[in-house]
Amino acid sequence: MPETILWLFDLDGTLIRTHGAGVRAMNRAFLEIMGWQEALAEISPAGLTDPIIAHRISRIKRGADMLADEMQRVFELYLKHLEAEMSIADYEVMPGITPFLEEQVDVPNVMLGLGTGNLEAGARLKLEPAGLNRFFPFGGFGSDARERSELLSIGVAKAGNLVGARIPAERIIVVGDTPHDINAGRAIGARTLAVATGPFSQAELMKYQPDLTIEDFTEEEAVKNFIRKIR
Ligand SMILES: [Mg+2]
Repeated sequence: MPETILWLFDLDGTLIRTHGAGVRAMNRAFLEIMGWQEALAEISPAGLTDPIIAHRISRIKRGADMLADEMQRVFELYLKHLEAEMSIADYEVMPGITPFLEEQVDVPNVMLGLGTGNLEAGARLKLEPAGLNRFFPFGGFGSDARERSELLSIGVAKAGNLVGARIPAERIIVVGDTPHDINAGRAIGARTLAVATGPFSQAELMKYQPDLTIEDFTEEEAVKNFIRKIR
């Protein structure tokens, strides 16, 4: 059997868009627990992990990190609100994603995982409406680590445990829609694929020198050529 290829997918702006459902749920949780209005408006959350989002807001609001118990209460309430928001969310799967995953999930040496700053429970809630959870049996999440590169490493380790072998960095592809994804992917030595379905254009993403930049996953030829170089 050919050697494993591991994909780690970012979630927001890469697989799906919730048109603000996640932001609304997080804002409500910050308001109800910390008393902070429109907390997310203080920062650019795209590409940041949930714990880093919380700490950054806290530093702006009062000059100090979140305490562990505050963070736990905010996140618990966030997940409750997210579940409610997702039931009415204006939901969108990014172009070409479902056909691409349908095809890759059947390739014997390919592993599909998540590499997202979302808490795992939040990621699962966000992927549920489109039935995308079935493609991603494991991943690295914001609930695993504060730093994006660290949660990617944890995702890689989980994949390694599943196949019972270490997966070499050059056979890992980190996919995301922000410079944070590209930088974190590079930090673990992985190949990086940037997709312009989030807040950044292809030209903006290219400045961070990902190994491939695409408009979206309907660019099948570009993605196939990219994979061919790894096989
Ligand atoms: Mg993203």
